Amino acid sequence: MPAKVIVTKCSDYGPGVQPAVDCLLAGLGGISAFVKRGQSVLIKPNLLSNRSPDLAVTTHPDVLRAVIRRVKEAGGVPAIADSPHSVFKIERVWEDTGIAAVSREEGAPLINLEKAGSTPVSAHGLEFGVAKPVLDADVVINLPKVKTHMLTVLTCAVKNMYGSIPGNQKTMLHRKYPDVAAFARLLSEICIRVKPCLSLCDGVVGMEGPGPSAGRPVRLGFLAASADPFALDRGMCRLLRIPERAVPYLRHDPAPHAAGGARLELCFAGTTLDDLRLPRFARPSSILGRLIPGGLVRMLGRYVWMRPFIGDRCKACGLCVKACPAGALRMEPGASRPALDAARCIECCCCHEVCPHNAIEMRERRFFRTRVRGRLPGGGQAGSGGCPVA
Ligand code: SF4
Ligand code: SF4
Repeated sequence: MPAKVIVTKCSDYGPGVQPAVDCLLAGLGGISAFVKRGQSVLIKPNLLSNRSPDLAVTTHPDVLRAVIRRVKEAGGVPAIADSPHSVFKIERVWEDTGIAAVSREEGAPLINLEKAGSTPVSAHGLEFGVAKPVLDADVVINLPKVKTHMLTVLTCAVKNMYGSIPGNQKTMLHRKYPDVAAFARLLSEICIRVKPCLSLCDGVVGMEGPGPSAGRPVRLGFLAASADPFALDRGMCRLLRIPERAVPYLRHDPAPHAAGGARLELCFAGTTLDDLRLPRFARPSSILGRLIPGGLVRMLGRYVWMRPFIGDRCKACGLCVKACPAGALRMEPGASRPALDAARCIECCCCHEVCPHNAIEMRERRFFRTRVRGRLPGGGQAGSGGCPVA
């Protein structure tokens, strides 16, 4: 049986979100196919950091609200949880993203995953700890945001499950599995272990360019859903014209015959491919990975690296120093910005992801820019077009 991915048009947030969510649920057999009366339902939006919803870093609260309402109608008991990348004050993340207001208005409590403990998991030689409330819930509903990602090219359903790992453990796992291939395997295993029963992505306004936090909001105008998070992400690749092989965690789709998208059934409800605007992305090793085998990409690493460049927007807050899993950044007393020890950098992009002032740009080596990217069609971008949100 092919995995079903439903896509429906939703041109803006507000009153149009609920009917669009209902359309998706109807296409997948209704909310009762996922939630039974009395079940505890952990709903996991993307709450990467304390940004306002219009910046397209986090799942929009209207999408969360629409799903909570249907969960309650089905008799489920909803709660909301995610572990942001950089947790300095989780309550501030909840408030600034608009999620706390939805929690209050809909009576769905927010769970602090940083204080709830974790359950150790071993899978295929990988070891990680998943926050207990995530594994203890009867069902998990996954509400990712559709964004580009400097490390994994796309972040949607599978990558969103990384927020099931509490607090600093996420940073430590970057150090433990610095290689993109190993990290992709880890992302896949976390998602398989958490096993969300439903993934519904917010693509009304997505992000293109240097995501997942410093990119440009772009109006994509859709919501999409699937019972299979890997299928949903492969569906996003098709919609946004991102080659599946450029998204490293999709190589670990556990479904049989997943390669080539043989199991995917894309259903369009009220929208067509032509309606969708395409994001751009840029990462040297990802682009090279589309052209040559992964082993060769690693060998060419010293020619295609990306390193953080800290610009004038830096406010010397030190968050990136704390987030760096390799100890490659340090803040000297009195310095106006952190200094980089390039030899230690593992190119994980965590610093870029957590900077609240978008002061960090991941820059690629000139060799790659001039000798490789310039020769690729479209400058090595996945898609074309894109519709910036004013
Ligand atoms: S680069 Fe960003 S995160 Fe790092 S110290 Fe400066 S403002 Fe803070
Ligand atoms: S400097 Fe930035 S990209 Fe390099 S290892 Fe540290 S967090 Fe990762």
